[in-house]
This record gives sequence, C-alpha cells and structure tokens, in this order.
Amino acid sequence: MSEHRYLVALGSNQRSSRYGAPRAVIAAAVDGIGELGTVEAISPLIETPPVGPSSRRYVNGALLLASDHAPRELLAGLQEVEARLGRERRGQRWRSRTIDLDIILWNGGSVSDVALQIPHPLFRERDFVLGPAVSVAPNWRDPVTALTVKQLYARLTRNRPAYR
Ligand code: ADP
Ligand code: MG
Repeated sequence: MSEHRYLVALGSNQRSSRYGAPRAVIAAAVDGIGELGTVEAISPLIETPPVGPSSRRYVNGALLLASDHAPRELLAGLQEVEARLGRERRGQRWRSRTIDLDIILWNGGSVSDVALQIPHPLFRERDFVLGPAVSVAPNWRDPVTALTVKQLYARLTRNRPAYR
C-alpha cells in the first residue's frame, strides 16, 4: 500500500516533435507519472484559452496518484518527466510549454518551502485545475479553506460559464 496520495494537475499547450499534439503529450506524461506510483483515476481532458501572451490553447487534466514518494521526491520525479517530454526551463514565465505538472493536494496536508507549496497556491482560482479535479476528487478537502474540491469549483464558477 502506498503511503501518499496526490492530486496532480496536467497542462500542455504545445506540440512536441516527439509526441505530437498536446493531448498526446499529456498521455505520455501520464505514462511517465505511472512510473512514480499508481495512477488511480484520470479526468477527461479539457481545452481552455491561454493565460498571458501565449496564443495557443491549453489542454488540461488532473489525476489521482498513490505513491511511496514523499512530496519533494515526487516534485523531482514530475520535473524529470517534464524534462523528458522536452519542456524548456528558460524564457519568460508564461511561455508556451510542452508540459506542466503541478502537485495540487497531498493527503499529508500542507508543505511550504521555496521550491514547493502544497496546496498549490493558485489552484482555488483556476477553473482549468478545479474542473478536471472535480471529476477525480470531488470530496477531497482543501486543508486551508476546509472546502471540498467540488465546493471550491462551485464557488469559483458561480455566476459565470465554466472554463472562462
Ligand atoms: P508554474 O507556476 O506555471 O507551474 P513552473 O512549472 O515553471 O511554473 O514552476 C515553477 C516552480 O514552482 C517549480 O520549479 C517548483 O519548484 C515550484 N513549485 C512550488 N509549488 C509547486 C507545486 N505544488 N507543484 C509544482 N511545482 C511547484
Ligand atoms: Mg508547474
């Protein structure tokens, strides 16, 4: 039995010469993440408009991972998957990217250091994270607000259409 459970957000908005379209890049990332533990559930993938100057659309998803890796080890593992899929680490923050893998929630609670914050500091404001998260972990409770993923998503999307 794995010691840790994680909610991981997946994002891509750029073709990979090796893997193809963003959806295929995400599929390759899920395979890579499978080497870090057991992928217990994967959300449907959604397309959302880009944030910032990038003109490409994002493809986003979320998955549940059971793993023996502690949070910092898992972050290193996810960064290795990102590197393997060809993500470049130079350039501006909002550049196009082949793949972005973020740890959103951990069943052990919170982590707060320079290189790693869990819960992810922005996830409550991101419908492209919460939308997919609802389909894999609706009742997971955010330790900071004590609201479930489903409640956070409802709070965020109330009075406006989804994914805008
Ligand atoms: P973005 O904020 O758009 O995801 P990056 O993927 O380039 O940007 O991440 C920048 C840094 O964020 C990483 O090097 C990592 O150390 C840090 N980080 C902090 N908290 C997290 C988290 N919960 N999941 C993933 N990366 C995180
Ligand atoms: Mg990231």
